[in-house]
Amino acid sequence: MDSNCGEVIERLGDIMSIETPFQSCEETREEQRLVCVEGKILSCVEKRVEEYEACDEWAKKYECCDWWPCSTICSVLVWFGKWICKAWRTITYTFCILYAWITVFFCYIQTWVIYTICVFLAVVTCFPSMFSANEQSFDMEECIYGWNAAYRIEGNNCNIEITVKIRLNPDSGISNTDLNDRMQVWETAIESTWSNQFQIERSDGECSCETYSVSFNVEFVESNEHHTVRVRNGAGTANMGNWYITSSGRTASHEFGHMLGFIDEYAATECPDRNVTSDNSIMQDNREGPRERHYEPFADWISDRTCCEYEVA
Ligand SMILES: [Zn+2]
Repeated sequence: MDSNCGEVIERLGDIMSIETPFQSCEETREEQRLVCVEGKILSCVEKRVEEYEACDEWAKKYECCDWWPCSTICSVLVWFGKWICKAWRTITYTFCILYAWITVFFCYIQTWVIYTICVFLAVVTCFPSMFSANEQSFDMEECIYGWNAAYRIEGNNCNIEITVKIRLNPDSGISNTDLNDRMQVWETAIESTWSNQFQIERSDGECSCETYSVSFNVEFVESNEHHTVRVRNGAGTANMGNWYITSSGRTASHEFGHMLGFIDEYAATECPDRNVTSDNSIMQDNREGPRERHYEPFADWISDRTCCEYEVA
């Protein structure tokens, strides 16, 4: 993790803009709120209308006696009966409404608690992404070899950029002109071989970038290097830390793969347990470029960073 304060703030900004987990929390909350109020008050109102009608109906159908004064007394009693009926219904309606409001109130509280927990979990889940640093450095071990892989990775404007700073230490006798010419060859070859071979596509979540392009950037530096390479005179078999002034752009591109943390994929007697591939990849016989598997670490990185799922496509 970087101690650079500006970067920490930038990363905090990234986390605040994470869309997926918070959005799903809000959607759940909205749905739940609708469920809370759904029909509760309305059912009380509907019930009251029905019950008032029932009181009227009862009064209308009640058969009074035909002869006076019985009929008049009966009618008056029925009229009172009807209004007592309605008064009673009004009381039960008031309780119905009161009960509905209490239910809605507790439902809202429950919704709020669930939402708070949801947001809390989202923050906890996404929090580690804050520590998916831009500067990557890790030890690699394969067969009898061990080395440090290091590079800088950034995701901006739907592009992932991987920068490797290389410091060249030329042997004496190598002219500046030769070295500069070769640096141009190596840089062009590495960047074109590694860049934009695949895209990184969103497979889950609502993050703003549906796809990321991937570009590689070589910087030859005098200080703050990720890797140091000795440049030797003449010709020979290069490895990650030793290149020859005659080494091809293709060779440099293969060694660049080791700097990113990729292992050799060709058969070698000293490494009988090696996972040997057969798709002419840059790390195998170097006849072609990188394969999907060589972009996977970068898809994983952007997945961590954004809290969405990204895959190599
Ligand atoms: Zn190799």
